[in-house]
Amino acid sequence: MYLASLTWKKLEEKITEETVALIPLGSVEQHGPLAPLGTDYFIPEEFAKRVEAAYPDKIMVLPTMPYGVCPYHASFPGTIDMGIEILSEVMTRIAMSLMDTGIKKMIFLNGHGGNGPSLDKAALAVYKRGGLAAIVDWWTLAGELNAKWAGGHGAGQETSVMMALKPEWVNMKDFFPANIHHVSDSLQNTHISIVTFEKGSVRIIRDVKDVTSSGAYGGTDAPEDANREWGEEILKGVTEYLIRFIAEYFKVSLSREKN
Ligand SMILES: [Zn+2]
Repeated sequence: MYLASLTWKKLEEKITEETVALIPLGSVEQHGPLAPLGTDYFIPEEFAKRVEAAYPDKIMVLPTMPYGVCPYHASFPGTIDMGIEILSEVMTRIAMSLMDTGIKKMIFLNGHGGNGPSLDKAALAVYKRGGLAAIVDWWTLAGELNAKWAGGHGAGQETSVMMALKPEWVNMKDFFPANIHHVSDSLQNTHISIVTFEKGSVRIIRDVKDVTSSGAYGGTDAPEDANREWGEEILKGVTEYLIRFIAEYFKVSLSREKN
């Protein structure tokens, strides 16, 4: 079910104790020279559609929240930043409105790391009102399911998924190698904001343009290796996992009675 497609009367009829709301959200921000600005909201929206198709009577998909928290990308054109406080407020109000409507279980299908703190806050507000909210960071999940599906930013993982979904928005011919500026010779970045030292890693936050000249940052996923088959494999693997996870999530009792 899609919330936007129903009348209030139909919505009232269709909501049950089991209904789970899926709230896709992302960010509008630079994704290097290959992938489009809308990458981070477009992908979660697609996961929501695929999961809805598996449970059309029990899943309620909300309109996608395209904007997120991305101040560190602002040196590149096209970056639209909501800031942590505003996104926290928006996501909490969406969640509280769902609870007023009678939907107590929800899943934030997230496409962007910067949204994490805001989602944690909204999810806790849901819990405190007797509901439950899960947060799915698909790009992290993909790498956990299969090391070949792990990804950086605007690199092979995200670009491949966009090639599978919207090839006309991907510009492989515009590729150029990024100049990566590490924090120092002994403190090398292994992701945009992660520096690995000895066996551990530390987060050091800088303006993204000062870390990578192209805006892209690959981990094991070089942007120039992106291809459609890789993207389709990731989409399929993550979707299948989400369908299995949600089967268990439906069963979770909201009763807080403790022995
Ligand atoms: Zn992204």
